[in-house]
Amino acid sequence: MSLHVSRHDFDQWMMPVYAPAAFVPVRAEGSTVWDQNGKDYIDFAGGIAVNALGHAHPALQQALQDQAARLWHTGNGYTNEPILRLAKQLIDATFADRVFFCNSGAEANEAALKLARKVAHDRFGAHKSGIVAFTNAFHGRTLFTVSAGGQPAYSKDFAPLPPDIQHAAFNDLEAAAALINENTCAVIVEPIQGEGGVLPAEPAFLRGLRELCDKHQALLIFDEVQSGVGRTGSLYAYMHYGITPDVLTSAKALGGGFPIGAMLTREDLALVMGVGTHGTTYGGNPLAGAVAGKVMELINQPEMMAGVAQRHTWIVEALDELNQRLHLFKQVRGLGLLIGAVLSDDFAGKAKQINLAAAEMGVMVLIAGANVVRFAPALNISEQELRTGMARFAEACESFARGTSS
Ligand SMILES: *Cc1c(COP(=O)(O)O)cnc(C)c1O
Repeated sequence: MSLHVSRHDFDQWMMPVYAPAAFVPVRAEGSTVWDQNGKDYIDFAGGIAVNALGHAHPALQQALQDQAARLWHTGNGYTNEPILRLAKQLIDATFADRVFFCNSGAEANEAALKLARKVAHDRFGAHKSGIVAFTNAFHGRTLFTVSAGGQPAYSKDFAPLPPDIQHAAFNDLEAAAALINENTCAVIVEPIQGEGGVLPAEPAFLRGLRELCDKHQALLIFDEVQSGVGRTGSLYAYMHYGITPDVLTSAKALGGGFPIGAMLTREDLALVMGVGTHGTTYGGNPLAGAVAGKVMELINQPEMMAGVAQRHTWIVEALDELNQRLHLFKQVRGLGLLIGAVLSDDFAGKAKQINLAAAEMGVMVLIAGANVVRFAPALNISEQELRTGMARFAEACESFARGTSS
């Protein structure tokens, strides 16, 4: 017999770095999730922008099962067919000529930052080690990536931190220009700050960073861990902006729920990383390769991208409609199916309360900081699920508004 477990056990047994919802999901299909009590939820959280094709997609199940029956793991002393096919798909679909595979977004960014340091080391010398990043950015939780992320609350308790990382305000080109110079090896930026509040970069900001990097021979790294794989309605957000980075990191939706990360770059940069300079045991394993290959095949289609734009409109319209009645949000922003509803000053700091009210009504949403309710549903969420979810979200907002006015 298997042990009966409940949400309560989390508080007894787990390191308390998370505060999960009051319910425990046990099963899911499409964009509907069921908990231990059989209650259903519409999923606008998408596993934090991961389940880009929803839950239990038949083609992904098939890809995983077929591969599971064949070969799970070899270690990096051997390559394998699924990961080579995935590499070719990514190369054909992007600016990149070479790919490094790992298991998460943080690892992809860690690889990108190490690559930038080594390129500068080899070509210019040890003095060119500066990394410029942005406040409110999020790049992962390893010591290097959490230091590059611009939220001191996440890094300060783990000091001493890796040196030579500076932060400018996001979307402030002048502030960035003041930090980027001949000692800079890389600039790392999210085309849309996800965790930092669903804040898209201004096109002129990214264009300016591109020019500054070219001028000072620094690498421009786009962290597309959240914005990539169709999320914005383009395969990668750099395509939406028409600004090409030197290095791009991808994870989250790339595996559709199976852990995988990737760092993409050009030939000349990739060749700096010779045999033994970097690696990871599980990176590029056949299971991840098989699933991600199917994800890429299904998402990199014009109809899928058009569907993202259609769903964006439906969600924004529904938010505008409910906001005309309740006046909770001062702005709705984002691209494609990464949408942030920013709370008006009267409700500042209460995004978590709306998230809890939503769960109560049977809809899962994310927050991005204390002031933004974030939507990152599956790119293929059905119109029926989307409309049901938005109706439940409107009810949750009404109940929240009643609660705060009484
Ligand atoms: C989630 C995220 C990461 C970290 O990815 P993990 O897989 O959690 O390590 C890095 N950058 C961005 C932009 C993210 O949204």
